[in-house]
Amino acid sequence: MNRHYGRRALGRVLGGLVALAAVTPTVAAPNGRPAAWTQAVEPFRIVGNVYYVGSRGLASYLIVSPAGDILLDGTLAENAPLIERNIARLGFRLGDVKVLVNSHAHSDHAGGLARLKQDTGAVMLASQGDRWSLEHGRHLGDNVFGAGSFPPVKVDRVVKDGEAIRLGGTVLTAYLTPGHTPGCTTWSLPVSEAGRRLQVVIPCSMTVAGNVLVGNRAYPNVATDYRSSFARWKAMKADVVLTNHPEVADVLGRRRRQLAGQPNAFVSRGELQRIAVAAQADFDREMAKQVGAKLRTGGSQTAKGGRGG
Ligand SMILES: [Zn+2]
Repeated sequence: MNRHYGRRALGRVLGGLVALAAVTPTVAAPNGRPAAWTQAVEPFRIVGNVYYVGSRGLASYLIVSPAGDILLDGTLAENAPLIERNIARLGFRLGDVKVLVNSHAHSDHAGGLARLKQDTGAVMLASQGDRWSLEHGRHLGDNVFGAGSFPPVKVDRVVKDGEAIRLGGTVLTAYLTPGHTPGCTTWSLPVSEAGRRLQVVIPCSMTVAGNVLVGNRAYPNVATDYRSSFARWKAMKADVVLTNHPEVADVLGRRRRQLAGQPNAFVSRGELQRIAVAAQADFDREMAKQVGAKLRTGGSQTAKGGRGG
């Protein structure tokens, strides 16, 4: 359950799509989706060779190197042209994008990947846990909001936990942090900024977002996975945290402070831990609620949608 929406309010809107968001901004478009998800925002360099090319409400990160670029997340299917324009506005070539990676296989982060893959000719790398979802264009696991479908994208190669993608001096490492989805992947890379080495971490979404935590038939280990991922995030070293939903780490607020002359606006040690602790508290509350509901009904909690819905 998204903590910014009541259950009834969510029922009125688009089911899958809004519900799978990590944090829902306040203003919704007529179709029920947060308007910020499709709003253009000026692309910019964050730190080192990492750039922001997403919309106002959904992040897409471009990591550039002399041997080609890596694009992380495609956001919504309809945002692919917006991301492509942002790449061009920064002076980079779409054809230089050689690798596509994904935080997790949900429509608001993976929806644009099929089109971006076609337009760039890049290879799609993803975790085994999210491969099925990416290739079928739907959430895997029982979720009260359903499958949240999106254009499927072929995964060219599976990335394992701890595996590094090396391209032109950039080393981007994958850390599997399942829970939000079975293959939720946190990405991390060192960058050089003003002579300093900074560790950038792009954590996968940590919210429950409608996932059935008790008796999830399609994803039985979901709760155990969440707990081990929280422990992992809390132990991870991060100087700069860049989230899939930019507001979670105040990415665009930091950009404003960067423009106002704060050179270290993006450096925030302890930020990843703060986000993980808050998300774990939400998870614990939701878990208690679901356990309570199950005890009251005396039966298994069944999802309306999930893999088959
Ligand atoms: Zn998600």
